[in-house]
Amino acid sequence: MSVRYGFHLSIAGKKGVAGALEEALALGLTALQIFAKSPRGWRARSLSPGEVEAFRALKEMAGGMPAAIHASYLVNLGAEGELWEKSVMSLADDLGKAALLGVEYVVVHPGSGDPRRIKEGALRALRLAGAKGRPTLLLENTAGGGEKAGSRFEELAWLLQDTPLQACLDTCHAFAAGYDVKGDPRGVLSALDRAVGLDRVPVVHLNDSVGGLGSRVDHHAHLLKGQIGEGLKGVLLDPRLEGRVFILETPRSPEEDAWNLGVLRGWLEEAAP
Ligand SMILES: [Zn+2]
Ligand SMILES: [Zn+2]
Repeated sequence: MSVRYGFHLSIAGKKGVAGALEEALALGLTALQIFAKSPRGWRARSLSPGEVEAFRALKEMAGGMPAAIHASYLVNLGAEGELWEKSVMSLADDLGKAALLGVEYVVVHPGSGDPRRIKEGALRALRLAGAKGRPTLLLENTAGGGEKAGSRFEELAWLLQDTPLQACLDTCHAFAAGYDVKGDPRGVLSALDRAVGLDRVPVVHLNDSVGGLGSRVDHHAHLLKGQIGEGLKGVLLDPRLEGRVFILETPRSPEEDAWNLGVLRGWLEEAAP
């Protein structure tokens, strides 16, 4: 099994986005995810030319390590009026930054509201960023709490239909939405394959879940420390996900990193020929 894996890394340091890539290399990661701005604010953060250059150079040095930008949590493509406009602008800003940095993917939660607005908003952001084709905009499945769209794979499929949009699977969200990743990871992937097509799922958020099956609680746990447990190994090692990017989105400390990397690499070694 050849997959890429990494953490969601902070860009808070002096070197910004380049610092995140440096950290990924230091940890021996083969992929990474970042926020391009504060995830809980609207204010766009500008990238300095030096930061962009350093990021691109490091990325190339790392063999083109695949990267994703996660959109702000405030973005709601299903909103109306000013909030919708701000959401589209914020997402377009992330798409523009991804293009500048050579980042392959931008991940966004669909939001809550009329699915037609969500679809229109995602496509408008792509048009505004002038970023058709590259980077790829991924809609992430959600845990479904608070009327959030995209908790059912069929809903995601409808949003993706006849668009260049693709999907990001979050295992914690799927489990919380009622998909039994613990008992039947193969079956969950088959359901996603039937609805969306696994060829349109380049990125997986490999999170365990604090909440139980169908709990609608969107709260990530470290590998083997949540309700899904070994089920995640079934997702990681499913041959249909060969070559995909797996991102862990759990709190970080040196100890927690060592734990998660130990589990992840152990699973990958088990599958090595
Ligand atoms: Zn997310
Ligand atoms: Zn996620």
